[in-house]
Amino acid sequence: MKILKSAKKLTKEVENLKSQGNSIGFVPTMGALHQGHLSLIENANHYNDIIIVSIFVNPTQFNDKDDYDRYPRTMDVDIEKLKKVKCDYVFTPEENEMYPEEDNREFNFGNLDKVMEGEHRPGHFKGVALVVSKLFEIVNPHKAYFGEKDFQQVAVIKHITKQLGFNIEIVPCPIIREKDGLAMSSRNTLLTTDQRMNVSLISKTIFEARERSKKMTVSETKDWVIRTINDNPYLNVEYFEIVDESSLEPIDNWSQKGEKVGCIAVHVGKVRLIDNIRFYS
Ligand code: AMP
Repeated sequence: MKILKSAKKLTKEVENLKSQGNSIGFVPTMGALHQGHLSLIENANHYNDIIIVSIFVNPTQFNDKDDYDRYPRTMDVDIEKLKKVKCDYVFTPEENEMYPEEDNREFNFGNLDKVMEGEHRPGHFKGVALVVSKLFEIVNPHKAYFGEKDFQQVAVIKHITKQLGFNIEIVPCPIIREKDGLAMSSRNTLLTTDQRMNVSLISKTIFEARERSKKMTVSETKDWVIRTINDNPYLNVEYFEIVDESSLEPIDNWSQKGEKVGCIAVHVGKVRLIDNIRFYS
């Protein structure tokens, strides 16, 4: 496994590997790796000859400076984890490698950044689009793997990949959960023992909402989820929306066409967690 900090070197190596007929799978991460990240790498290994993982805590996607400062950084442990799976390259750029100068490229997200994460974290998707488009320019893989845990992010990345004309297949991968249902997240390590015991209510509630939705309207289902989670003193719901899978427009009736996904963001003290679930159509 090669560890590279230089974008130029990585681009050159990838070009070489491609010219020899290798297919390239890319997994961008912010590190503090867990089984969710490793599942993306496992998926990438099924369909690609060479696997490249990037680890970069991207400052431009944090709309909250404290959140950026607190974000877990465990590079040495991450590298050890990557040595145990099939990963050929780890790209670990410093900030000035990714942002040597101010980059003001603009993106058009249509409606995709007007709701949920886009509404509550202003500038977040611009930062995500900025770093992902730069990483795509550097790596230019055949396929790139993203977790459905960040459901809206997958929609935004598919959109900008098309818009910017990258010939890269975006592969969404299922959410990996802890035994009690909590969606794995690097931020889970920031929870206190008491908080950790209470956060499983988030996934339990959205899973139960899917069952209850057979007998409830969309608005009743949303109210029930928000009330149930907010009844727990450790948890404070920022939003729970049920949206159309493709447009991310909130739905107000179960009979509307298309796949429906319930997306939630919850504050647990200073930690903010997200999760989502597909509803039966
Ligand atoms: P992050 O390091 O949080 O930016 O995540 C890097 C990639 O891993 C993103 O595509 C995430 O959606 C994905 N990911 C994070 N947590 C999970 C999870 N629990 N299951 C599946 N994918 C995940």
